[in-house]
Amino acid sequence: MVRPALRSRSLRRVHRRTPGGRNVVHYERRRPGPARCARCGRPLNGVPRLRPSKLRALPKTAKRPERPYGGVLCAACLAELLREQIRRMASASQ
Ligand SMILES: [Zn+2]
Repeated sequence: MVRPALRSRSLRRVHRRTPGGRNVVHYERRRPGPARCARCGRPLNGVPRLRPSKLRALPKTAKRPERPYGGVLCAACLAELLREQIRRMASASQ
């Protein structure tokens, strides 16, 4: 039996095959919840659910969509926001 600290279900069990072909169980901290849109609260697509240490190993382009407000607003909210801004600019120029 594994040591008492690892029997806790607050750690998740990850099955890994070692280079020698053995199947072993690794114990990892659970992953955080999904990143959410700052405006509507929906989960964001294209933002990985990883712990900060794993997130740091990723390239910047893998961490959020490459568009204005990528990783902050969802695509629907951004589209709405841009339409609003364009409408405001059009009415201001007249
Ligand atoms: Zn949104």
